[in-house]
Amino acid sequence: MTTSLIENSFAITTHLLKKDLKKARQKTPINGYLNIFHNNKPSIADYLIEYDGENTYLVINFAEKSQKILLSEHQLTFGTRTYLNCACGHRTNSLYLNKGIFACKKCHNLHYQSTSINRNTLHGKFLYQQNQILKIINMRESMNRIFYKSRYSKPFVRWLDLCGKAGLIKEVEDAQALITAINNYRQQV
Ligand SMILES: [Zn+2]
Repeated sequence: MTTSLIENSFAITTHLLKKDLKKARQKTPINGYLNIFHNNKPSIADYLIEYDGENTYLVINFAEKSQKILLSEHQLTFGTRTYLNCACGHRTNSLYLNKGIFACKKCHNLHYQSTSINRNTLHGKFLYQQNQILKIINMRESMNRIFYKSRYSKPFVRWLDLCGKAGLIKEVEDAQALITAINNYRQQV
């Protein structure tokens, strides 16, 4: 069986669909689209939410194909969460696009790059660092906002911490300079 890397696979995530999943819980009609990466090129997928009796589905249409993904709601201490269900029954936050089908990482046999790298060799160490940097860039791109009440949001602070550990000093310094500028401005007004 061939293995693919998670880092190279496009995923729909509950994070990406957060607002629409909230609407789905309120049974509001939804029509959205996603920029996806399919067959190594960017394309667009349409999606809608389908209510069928007890069940709620996310229906994704792309490349003349349609896929129905069962959604399930779960009560957590801080509110209700909606999860995506793979065809295998696995409940997850991410379904990966591979060979034209969205499925969980187990069904697609996906692995994280960093887990397959031997960090003890010099080459492995380099690859690991590169991979950490790639992760950091992806993390930054998926972040909604970096400010919360004129302060850096918690995800952004965590991200900066990772930058520091990965040796991305410039990003940390830029962020520090920016927050200093904002604080100075706030003191003036
Ligand atoms: Zn699965």
